[in-house]
Amino acid sequence: MALAHVAVTGRDRRHLSELRNKFRAVVVGVQETRHGIVVDAYIPAERIDWLRQKGYSVKLLEEINAPSRVRQDQSRAAAESRLKRGRYGDVIWAGGYLTVDEVEAAVVLGERNHPGVFERIALPHRTWEKRQCHAFRIGRGTGKKRPAVCFLAGVHGREWGGPDILIYLGMRLLRAYRDGESIRLGHKVFTPAQIRTIVEKLDVIVFPQVNPDGRYFSMERYPWWRKNRRPAPKGRGSKSIGVDINRNYPFLWRFDRHFAPNTVDSSFKPSDYESYVGPRPASEPETRNVIWLLDRFPNIQYLVDLHSYGETILHSWGGDEYQSDDPHMSFLNPQYDGKRGRIHDNVYREYLPAADVVLASRMGKQMSGAIRQVRGRDYKVKPSVGLYPTAGASDDYAFSRHFVDRRKGKIIAYTLEFGRSRASTPFHPPYDEMRKVMREVTAGLLELCVELAKET
Ligand SMILES: [Zn+2]
Repeated sequence: MALAHVAVTGRDRRHLSELRNKFRAVVVGVQETRHGIVVDAYIPAERIDWLRQKGYSVKLLEEINAPSRVRQDQSRAAAESRLKRGRYGDVIWAGGYLTVDEVEAAVVLGERNHPGVFERIALPHRTWEKRQCHAFRIGRGTGKKRPAVCFLAGVHGREWGGPDILIYLGMRLLRAYRDGESIRLGHKVFTPAQIRTIVEKLDVIVFPQVNPDGRYFSMERYPWWRKNRRPAPKGRGSKSIGVDINRNYPFLWRFDRHFAPNTVDSSFKPSDYESYVGPRPASEPETRNVIWLLDRFPNIQYLVDLHSYGETILHSWGGDEYQSDDPHMSFLNPQYDGKRGRIHDNVYREYLPAADVVLASRMGKQMSGAIRQVRGRDYKVKPSVGLYPTAGASDDYAFSRHFVDRRKGKIIAYTLEFGRSRASTPFHPPYDEMRKVMREVTAGLLELCVELAKET
């Protein structure tokens, strides 16, 4: 099956939302332009004409099968050359995406080269393929009063660049701190004083590769793979492997009960290629590792989950549009079961305190501003909810924790979709392009750290 990356315009939002529900397109992003709403999507190439007959305007951007294979070959070649030249796990030298094992090796290197400011953290749950994951904490000193930020990446297999970004960020930060130097990223500069403040005042907690099994499968076998590698239920074939980690968190997970029919982009069918939610909330070791990390560091105030692509910085909520007037109209209130998730109505909107709206959009804009300075790319800051609502995603889960249990700290959470939609194979673009993305996203995340450190 030839898979086509397409830009689709339709008559209106309803017509476009049928793309997924009726026509099984994979919808990646939505953009409001002068010419109407444009949807970034993937469909089998042979269905393009058929969609046109249904009244959509479809522009073919790229058939991705062949270029994806090329990307896999390039990555293998780059990894081999790193190995030959003694650069195993060196993201700064790199030349191509780090392999799954190299991401782990890079964390070991960090621990060896930067004692006293680097803590390697073993996650408690092994993946289905028995991989042991590590996170790390950068920070000089300890203490409950230190605020923390948490960065996640590598949740979806095919989004290869996330782990590279976070390893790159870690290495640049550690080296600059050790050498008392600044960090220059395109036109954006962080001064030695700012670097010192970050390392000495904050805990920077980084979990670079949440779903190594899925990333491995995408890099070595099928580039389009998104989920983890949970074995198929008994009697089912390989089509029923895997759970979407970012639909598996305990936030409105029973979407059939909590949301209005045909709103959420989730599925209870293991054979759903994109967004099977799993047999239970937090059923997956990868999900439980993230939850464990948030529990282990109750001082986390901001979380950014890196995904690709689309150049957006998304803040809560993803479950519905928000309102700041009625605290009882919230995910905690079963009265609204079956009513959530219809976009552009007032029957239900998720409660977001006005002060949190300010916090989330202010910090989002800070990040976006720093990103723009690197090479001029414009990352739009907006609420997570787009053409569809989401249930069980990391950002809503992290932010919801303190509403569920007031003893837990408030976490302002973002999903940052890095990378441009018009690159070749945008889930894993050529590495030259990826390096530019690594620099700009690093600038955004460091800016968040600088701003948070200022407040303390
Ligand atoms: Zn993703």
